[in-house]
Amino acid sequence: MKDSHVHTTLSHDGRSTMQEYLDAAAKRGVDEITFTEHCDFYDGVETSLRTLDVRSCRDSYRALAPKKCVRTNFGIEIGLRPECREKILAVTGENDFDFIIGSSHITAGRDMAFDPAFFAGKTRHEAYEVYFREVLENIRLFDDFDVYGHLDYVVRYGGYPEKTVSYDEFREELEAILDLLIEKGKGLEVNSSGYRYGLDSPHPNLAILKRYREKGGRIVTLGSDAHQTDQLGAGLAEAAELLREAGFSEYAVFRERRPVFFCL
Ligand SMILES: [Zn+2]
Ligand SMILES: [Zn+2]
Repeated sequence: MKDSHVHTTLSHDGRSTMQEYLDAAAKRGVDEITFTEHCDFYDGVETSLRTLDVRSCRDSYRALAPKKCVRTNFGIEIGLRPECREKILAVTGENDFDFIIGSSHITAGRDMAFDPAFFAGKTRHEAYEVYFREVLENIRLFDDFDVYGHLDYVVRYGGYPEKTVSYDEFREELEAILDLLIEKGKGLEVNSSGYRYGLDSPHPNLAILKRYREKGGRIVTLGSDAHQTDQLGAGLAEAAELLREAGFSEYAVFRERRPVFFCL
């Protein structure tokens, strides 16, 4: 398998080095790794986290001792926020990435994973609506990304008992999101970390993947969102099975910002 979403110790929450992933790849059944460190801008957000130093990240990537059995790509997972558009464009425009995942981690100025205030006083529906509307706004505002990361990731947080979204409940937002992604030639990431979080689905769920396909979307990448070597490639076989169920016969890996397709 080819894993297109991997974090190393260069990300604030990564626990394995690039070289350790390379050494573990064969054992984990992975023959291509795209490193995608977190790059979020925290303007106006109370946090001790700091924004990635992309230059030192690229230097570490270039210093890797290659392995014959595993190909590597230099990517990034950039946190899209309307408020930080200029800074984000500077990062995506000035570096020679193979792959750019655009993700929403901070929505309405709050980091959903760490700040429960995002959900305070909102029903589940209201909170998810704020999230999906900002995702749509991000897709409108940004062109320099290849796939949208873990599209329904909001379901992990907020402590609501129902940890999924039904397509019909957010049909208006999801239709607009998928239409715009397709119009802009952007793909969807299928992120298998959902399984790790105890969900019975990757992000996004089967209904969203099916609808993207029905509408003509063809670019899907597979990523484990690994933060340590024993998560490399985890859940990708199940996610690939779900993609076949959604009607896909191929998945993509981005090299030099262009999709290369492989059989599922
Ligand atoms: Zn993410
Ligand atoms: Zn990630």
